[in-house]
Amino acid sequence: MTRDTVTPSGGGSAGPDPSRFKLSHHGTTIFTVMSRLAAEKGAVNLGQGFPDFEPPPQLLESVARQLGARHNQYAPMAGVPSLLEQIAMRLEARYGVTVDPETQVTVTAGATEAIFCAIQAVVHAGDEVILLDPCFDCYAPAVELAGGRAVRVPLALPGFGIDFALLSGAVTSRTRLVVVNTPHNPSGALVTGGDWSRLATLLEGTGAYVLSDEVYDHLVYDGRRHATVLGVPGLRERAFAVFSFGKVCNATGWKIGYCVAPAALTEAVRNIHQYVTFSVSAPVQWGLADFLATRPPFLDDIAAFYQGRRDRFAALVADSRFTLVPSAGTYFQLLDYSRISDRPDVEFCSDLIDRHGVVAIPLSPFCESPPAARLLRFCFAKSDETLQAAAERLRRA
Ligand code: GLN
Repeated sequence: MTRDTVTPSGGGSAGPDPSRFKLSHHGTTIFTVMSRLAAEKGAVNLGQGFPDFEPPPQLLESVARQLGARHNQYAPMAGVPSLLEQIAMRLEARYGVTVDPETQVTVTAGATEAIFCAIQAVVHAGDEVILLDPCFDCYAPAVELAGGRAVRVPLALPGFGIDFALLSGAVTSRTRLVVVNTPHNPSGALVTGGDWSRLATLLEGTGAYVLSDEVYDHLVYDGRRHATVLGVPGLRERAFAVFSFGKVCNATGWKIGYCVAPAALTEAVRNIHQYVTFSVSAPVQWGLADFLATRPPFLDDIAAFYQGRRDRFAALVADSRFTLVPSAGTYFQLLDYSRISDRPDVEFCSDLIDRHGVVAIPLSPFCESPPAARLLRFCFAKSDETLQAAAERLRRA
């Protein structure tokens, strides 16, 4: 037998059957596809959500210093203690919630890993997981890998609020987890204190957990405040709250996030995390801890900064044929293109790249069934130059 005939699938010389690999039917994520297209076609990239801006210099200095401080071996599995402590202090200062750093916080390789681990930790074969459509694209595949079934409940248009009538109709004795995202990607909508209370009432007496994706928690605009699940009696006891340093420090490439949950649920997350990544980049954790210890104003100022970007983008596209859907948070702006075309979003998006040289993100990959509205997501976390170049092109569409 030659080496060529030996394939992992045992499928002979034809090679493995790609459709037998898990999640292959999901294809490549829309973010990778769109960033690749932007590069290939030289288009202005307002697709994948990442800022044009650098992390604060003090953070870069702290990490650089820690790179030279012999933190080159594995960090503790749950996270570097000083970082866990700073996270707990930040949550206390910002939201008035008390968290035990040792037993309730886990540092993960980006929020995506935290979300994955939380889902694997509690979802068993046949369990139902409620996802509110449109939702970020990593939730459903993680549910599928766990053997669960995603039950998709559409958010109410035009404001992307939770439709509690639909949601309560979807909760069954098999509901293991409800996934909520605030500020919401892709719409920027916020879950309010009232929404959280209604959810707490709805889940009372059920065995369902809540996974609250709060990665844009600092990016809330117009004087509104982020409402974390950690401050909601009746939910906090059953909740995994997930946060991201990448999003709030302009460092999405560092892939550092964390999960906050009651001790028993944290243990469940760590059961998975220890076998997925074990631990996360030590020098970056030490550097972040030093940075947070200085109580950097950067983290308080970032909302005003991105609100300015949002408003700038809105002003630049005001005389286009797109219509703005108000965005209360995140670094995303939805634009309605129904005055330009009634084509489905993926087709319109690809047209926009080919004919006008602007990359956006369609909402279809965030949903089970394509949304009724004609919407594309644009990332406004970009320099003036980039926003101007994009807007000039969008005005021609
Ligand atoms: N969260 C980012 C977005 O929504 C993308 C993350 C990723 O590329 N996986 O655009």
